Amino acid sequence: MRRRPIGLRAGAATDVGRVRRRNEDGFLLRGSVFAVADGMGGMRGGHVASALALNTLDSEADADGSPTVVEWVTRANRALRDHVGRDPMVTGMATTVVVAVATGDTIKIAHVGDSRAYLLRDGALLQLTEDHSHVQRLMDVGLITAEEATRHPARNLVTRALGLDDSVEPDETVMVVRTGDRLLLCTDGITKMLDDDRIQAILAASDDPDATARQLVEAANEAGGEDNATAVVIHAAEESDGTHRPRRSPPSDPAP
Ligand code: MN
Repeated sequence: MRRRPIGLRAGAATDVGRVRRRNEDGFLLRGSVFAVADGMGGMRGGHVASALALNTLDSEADADGSPTVVEWVTRANRALRDHVGRDPMVTGMATTVVVAVATGDTIKIAHVGDSRAYLLRDGALLQLTEDHSHVQRLMDVGLITAEEATRHPARNLVTRALGLDDSVEPDETVMVVRTGDRLLLCTDGITKMLDDDRIQAILAASDDPDATARQLVEAANEAGGEDNATAVVIHAAEESDGTHRPRRSPPSDPAP
């Protein structure tokens, strides 16, 4: 007999923060597809990059067929490269992305850059993705500690991003979700402002994914708001529970 399918309830929030002038982050909630992206590239490039990546994922979510989530991210990279080829004004634009796609109780997560996915299960917070960043490399070889990474002068340097090269290598994580699980997708404006204990406490506190996403963004602002901050929060519940309306971070038009 088939197990009772899991339903997902999701919420999201994004904010420019207290220092930056523009919000180059974005998010996507679309049925069983969830994503955040953190654009970079000055002027209008950063926003164009994150919006283009999310638009591509949005239309992939709409299309039929069953490509892998890694293929979706690869297509988003191609869309960015094509756009840069047509518009030299946005040369150098790039974006991180973390996208989660649910099929039944299986969730596939692909990411590029330092936007992250976390799982809160039985009260414990697990980081599901490993940053593609300079400080993560230094940590991997034991040159710096996680604590030193938070203060490192190159802590914002990502080693992979969409838009930089014709080829891109997303990492994929596959997990089986359980009733009661909570997932977080977020940009570094959250994780550089809030430590794991704080993220864990906020994720655990409320039963409303929209309120939780807002609280994460507000807490990042209260901690200094040094960067744009974006959170997508997903609660796994019984199927009858699963409702959220499709949403995109405004503005969703990447056209110059
Ligand atoms: Mn950022």
